[in-house]
Amino acid sequence: MAKRMNWQIGREMDYPYDGPPPKKQVAYVFDINKCIACQTCTISCKTCWTSGKGQETIFWNNVETKPYGGYPTGWDLKLHEELGPAEWRGGVLESRTPFEGKDELEPPRGYRPHDQDYNQPNLGEDETAGIADKGAHFEGIHPMWMFYLARICNHCDHPACLAACPRKAIYKRDEDGIVLVDQQRCRGYQECVRACPYKKVFYNLVSRVSEKCNGCFPRVENGEVALCVESCIGKIRMHGFLTTQGGPREDNPLDYIVKIRKLALAIYPQFGTGPNVYYIPPLHIRNDFLEQIFGPGVAAAKKLYRNLKNDRQLLGALFLFGASNRIIERFAVQGEEAVGWDVDGVEVARVPFTEPVYIREHYDAKRDVYRHNTT
Ligand code: SF4
Ligand code: SF4
Ligand code: SF4
Repeated sequence: MAKRMNWQIGREMDYPYDGPPPKKQVAYVFDINKCIACQTCTISCKTCWTSGKGQETIFWNNVETKPYGGYPTGWDLKLHEELGPAEWRGGVLESRTPFEGKDELEPPRGYRPHDQDYNQPNLGEDETAGIADKGAHFEGIHPMWMFYLARICNHCDHPACLAACPRKAIYKRDEDGIVLVDQQRCRGYQECVRACPYKKVFYNLVSRVSEKCNGCFPRVENGEVALCVESCIGKIRMHGFLTTQGGPREDNPLDYIVKIRKLALAIYPQFGTGPNVYYIPPLHIRNDFLEQIFGPGVAAAKKLYRNLKNDRQLLGALFLFGASNRIIERFAVQGEEAVGWDVDGVEVARVPFTEPVYIREHYDAKRDVYRHNTT
């Protein structure tokens, strides 16, 4: 089996295919401190891409409540039961990924959810990790906690869905690393559904082929962010590209946040697929729980986030979340503003560090009118 370097687990690992990395890699940062679970992202994706027959219970984008929520039900528990807990030494994964310890011809470890696991896409919504005792009050720590986890396909560096497909109907685009299912080639064997550790490939019972998030590739080809990113009410999302040819660039906001500063972390890096949705861990959640999901970088990322007010370059990058429907390929902090440019070098975002305040007089002499709060 081919060996591939997986930077997220700090070592090489077995992967059934070899090949060069794409020219650039589509990637996303989600600041889940800010997500309010409004599900606008879910609905914008659903109305555009999955409103047809057979797609009733298919959500390419979903937002679940942790610790108890999950769509499909229990998606992240079942593989962990087989693999056991992740073991890290420093930044290096010591335990096995689902690709390892297997015969070369065997697909990666996984399981296929039952049809009913898709029936309740927001099971566990707003359920906290414990029950508040009568008379309990806040004393500076959160004994009861929960947080929202927005999820889409990770357009992985080493996709398990692609590795498992006996028809080679799944491919990763060379130009941007987006992972797609060729529905003409697919015969509905569902090996991809079984193999994806994130359960982000879905089987359509009517068309009888598999489907998944297509990364909004027609928009990406026009330099625009994905629908779930543009529609995000909380402006928690940034969509762009990681540099794959040469080292990370300081002026690329994705490179800067993910690779240089390591503020945002991959989800379940122990699954070995090299997922490209990166999460800024929620500050109010226990580190031991978060480390199971985001690996050993949680405490350092939280420390960076808490210090943002003194970290102008990083803060500037975060100010550009949701600032434009164009993909920001380059950014800079200029004086008191964060500025972003698109692939054509056109300025598409300029965000002040401090919101300007405009005070309008109660009486407008020019128009001879009085202004009231209700107008
Ligand atoms: S998240 Fe799943 S479906 Fe998406 S590329 Fe990775 S393995 Fe494939
Ligand atoms: S990138 Fe596009 S297709 Fe994928 S989840 Fe977001 S809106 Fe849906
Ligand atoms: S639109 Fe944004 S804030 Fe609302 S649920 Fe989706 S990710 Fe969270």
